[in-house]
Amino acid sequence: MKNRGILTVVSGFSGSGKGTIMKELMAKYADTYALSISATTRAPRPGEVHGKEYFFVTKEEFESMIEQEELIEYAQYVNNYYGTPRNYVFEQLENGKDVILEIEIQGALKVKEKYPDTVLMFVSPPSAEELKKRLEGRGTEDAATIASRLSRAWEEAQGVENYDYFVINDVLEECVEEVHAIIQNEHARAFRNQELIDDIKNELKEFSKGE
Ligand code: ADP
Ligand code: 5GP
Repeated sequence: MKNRGILTVVSGFSGSGKGTIMKELMAKYADTYALSISATTRAPRPGEVHGKEYFFVTKEEFESMIEQEELIEYAQYVNNYYGTPRNYVFEQLENGKDVILEIEIQGALKVKEKYPDTVLMFVSPPSAEELKKRLEGRGTEDAATIASRLSRAWEEAQGVENYDYFVINDVLEECVEEVHAIIQNEHARAFRNQELIDDIKNELKEFSKGE
């Protein structure tokens, strides 16, 4: 029997490099991980494809998903809705994949409340100056949107202590390996291995009877 996968939420300020890290992680360890694809009402950036980066939907479609309880969680972020479709996440966990949600902090805390065995990981750039540089360098938002995202980053920084792990994305490759190591080490946590613990206990009990 395959062990159930672990659910990890990765958050981080816009521009911290979450998307880049996830892309590398999926490319390197395709058999281990499944990345959840969110629904959003924001417009696609150049190169983004419906069903790949996001399911791009209208406000009406999003509100109908909320009503039908199709989302594990949803939140508003800088004037748009973002949410995690339920079915894919649970299918993949049952299949033994470690599932990653790349979502902002309000959604992350909702997921942890509903599913306390979720791993919460926060990715940060080495400095605020570097964050600004990366957001500007990405070149996908206008100056006003960048300013909103930086101000949202300050708000989000107030909630970082709620996370289980804090990872710095300085050298990309090192960061990818750190994220991978953290999630894989989680598999060894005693509370995630209760069935194996019960099995060995039962086997030992048999031995102790034969004494
Ligand atoms: P997020 O998904 O967190 O908003 P992105 O993955 O889009 O962030 O990264 C923002 C920008 O920073 C992109 O242009 C990306 O190429 C760049 N970037 C990501 N990681 C690093 C890194 N370790 N060093 C330098 N630049 C990076
Ligand atoms: P972006 O517009 O840069 O793709 O994403 C903006 C923010 O929304 C990021 O912090 C991203 O992690 C978050 N986000 C993406 N999908 C979801 C989701 O399904 N739920 C929540 N709560 N946040 C999401």
